[in-house]
Amino acid sequence: MAASEKPPFKGDPAFKGPAVTPPAAPLDLFAADEDANDTQEQKALPVEEPPRRMPSVPPRPSPRTPPIVAPAQASGPRLSGPVSSPISSGPKGPLSAGPVSSGPVSNRPASNVPAGSSGVLPGRLNAPASGPISSGPASIAPVTTVAKPSRNLSPRASAFAGAVIGAAIGDALGHPTESLESIAAIRKQFGPNGVVGYALYREKDGVRYAPYTDDTQMAEIVLDSLIGATDLDATMQDLAARFVEWKNAPQGGHRSPGKACIAGCEALERGIPWHSAGAPDAGGSGSVMRAYPFGLVFAHDPAKAELWAVEHSRLTHRAPMALAACAAMAVGVAHIARGASLVRAFSEMVGAACRYDAKTAAMMATALDEARSNVEPTITLERLRGHAAHEAIAAAIYIATRHAKHIPGALLEAVNTPGDSDTIATLVGALLGARHGFSALPTPWVDELERTDALFILAVRASQSES
Ligand SMILES: [Mg+2]
Repeated sequence: MAASEKPPFKGDPAFKGPAVTPPAAPLDLFAADEDANDTQEQKALPVEEPPRRMPSVPPRPSPRTPPIVAPAQASGPRLSGPVSSPISSGPKGPLSAGPVSSGPVSNRPASNVPAGSSGVLPGRLNAPASGPISSGPASIAPVTTVAKPSRNLSPRASAFAGAVIGAAIGDALGHPTESLESIAAIRKQFGPNGVVGYALYREKDGVRYAPYTDDTQMAEIVLDSLIGATDLDATMQDLAARFVEWKNAPQGGHRSPGKACIAGCEALERGIPWHSAGAPDAGGSGSVMRAYPFGLVFAHDPAKAELWAVEHSRLTHRAPMALAACAAMAVGVAHIARGASLVRAFSEMVGAACRYDAKTAAMMATALDEARSNVEPTITLERLRGHAAHEAIAAAIYIATRHAKHIPGALLEAVNTPGDSDTIATLVGALLGARHGFSALPTPWVDELERTDALFILAVRASQSES
């Protein structure tokens, strides 16, 4: 969300001290993958997929996983750069800082469990979290060992779960850096590599987890509301009620909500119609961060995804750049979920943005050109360092283009930005998660994410619905 929207980020004791062990030598934070020329269309995913029964597996042990630490004899990804130092990605041992979440661990009733689901994640999530997935941004080879195909997930369900969990992982990774306005500030707090994994944990009932922020809180609300939705106005009214409920009692407590989101919710609470509740000049990233569910649910109809995402922005953000960013995000995710290449999807995103705000479209087009021309992130991402919607969406497609085949590298570059880190990483996670599916997400990050099970179940349930 926009910096101008945000209250000062302070006072959370969970942020005390660096949470990562810096490697002995600096990594190149911003070395690009070589997959910007991703021009091959994926095999189209079936949009209409019959529900499948989820595997029944034992619940995971509690506490869930050991800390994410790159093993000394890693057999999987290797740093392609000059650095080979051991890297730790988060605080070790029991949680020692940070308040326990004040909200319930799960805010979903049992009835939300998809038919046939055991209510737990597929078996891969019970595998040891030994993959060296957080060994530094950008210069890591593609993950080959931690990401195994999920069993019994349809392509559609995998795309949904990949987007939802991928977005939430990005959000949680970027949680500690969203208020840091420069690379220097990030390195000062987290070491020369910046954030290389979850750097913030909380604990509840003996289980520690990496908490996400308002981005995921609101996206979850949107996705849940869209399941089975057929009427635009009725759905927007439902969203309005849920947004007000979120403002007053967010799941997990308040997580740095943007001022525009809060102001929009307050207007809704006063009875202002949903289509005019958002401020006309609200152009922060508070609506685009929750727009990707429209692309998932309406993947069969990108035009509908665009329309609904734009209309939903009006609840809190009515500035053209916010509408444009929402349109782009929904259209991009829709095309990706349909099997389009990232190149095609990003082109469609620029076109969608242009229908609402030429400046946003131009900013996105420039970012794409720079990614394909290997323009350094220190140039592009410094320019996009603000917290406005057009900057976040442009930064996201720049990073996703540079790291199109490597989700960990993409997410880490996103969170080590001077801009709206958690939201940029959320957008990147949704785009690449939809593209590569749930199995491409690093297992340790999936396991340690807050409420992974609830988000996974919601994603699968949404994939089985028809809207
Ligand atoms: Mg946030």
